[in-house]
Amino acid sequence: MTTTSHIQDALQTVYEKYKDVHDGEVATYIPELAKAKPDDFGICLATVDGQVFSVGDWQQEFTIQSICKPFAFLMALEECGREAVLQKVCVEPSGDAFNSIELEPKTMRPFNPMINAGAIAIASMIKKSSREEGVQAYVDKMQMAAGRTLDFDDAVLASETATGNRNRAIAYLMLNFGIIDAAVDHALHQYFSQCSLLVNCADLAMMAATLANMGINPVTRNQVFELEYVKDVLAVMFTCGLYDYAGEWAYRVGLPAKSGVGGGIIAVVNRQLGIAVYSPRLDPKGNSVRGIGVCKELALHLGLHAFEFTNVGSSFMQWLSAD
Ligand code: GLU
Repeated sequence: MTTTSHIQDALQTVYEKYKDVHDGEVATYIPELAKAKPDDFGICLATVDGQVFSVGDWQQEFTIQSICKPFAFLMALEECGREAVLQKVCVEPSGDAFNSIELEPKTMRPFNPMINAGAIAIASMIKKSSREEGVQAYVDKMQMAAGRTLDFDDAVLASETATGNRNRAIAYLMLNFGIIDAAVDHALHQYFSQCSLLVNCADLAMMAATLANMGINPVTRNQVFELEYVKDVLAVMFTCGLYDYAGEWAYRVGLPAKSGVGGGIIAVVNRQLGIAVYSPRLDPKGNSVRGIGVCKELALHLGLHAFEFTNVGSSFMQWLSAD
């Protein structure tokens, strides 16, 4: 058996193992998300040398939701620099739900950029003078990371804009404490738009592989993100990427990751590969049930945990190049 077919077989095996798992519920708090087909299931793995392995409904598009957060955080670091960003957002795990209405009590900054409060503060930083320009700058980056043209789900954007009062409350709380400026609706439009980007598993795997590959898209070879800030984002994904499951995730899977309520999840194996799973049935913490299962399984069977004793940083690539 060749090594590449071993990887394809590993994806197929984990797909077969989880395809009959029907636990969890599709998110409904944004009404339009309730239309997702609950049993859709796709997995994709992209390596830093540009190989892509997929199984199931990997072409099915869905909204990126919170998986936009690490990429928007990267944009803010690139545009404003580390210190300016850290003045507005901490990098501490909150241990609370993604939409919790709370700020760090001493500085009144949001706990981290991976929860809604932090992501709205980041959106406020990267918005431009016109709404269109800020959203376009984000799309341009995401298209470069995916390596293809991407669209928005306008219905999800309208649905979230109409019902996102909890996020509006968080934004006004941050306005009160001087974390965001007075253009609250503008910042929320930036944030809601970021969440409404349509992607499939291959797009997300390529975005994750771009993070793994020092900010360079493994296929187009374009430098999408500044190398200097990639490690900042991976560190925060490692400690805060899975909402209030982040600690257990780091323990069990051991990879920087981000999940979204649309049912997507990405994981990054630094300098090696990106993984993406789509399955919209969520657990009570808002993470894809199958997505978590698949990542746990792949981390175990491919030896991907950051502190795995067999993972010497390039073991997976050596394995691949043994073909
Ligand atoms: N747009 C969603 C919200 O702010 C994103 C949440 C998520 O994926 O965690 O409610």
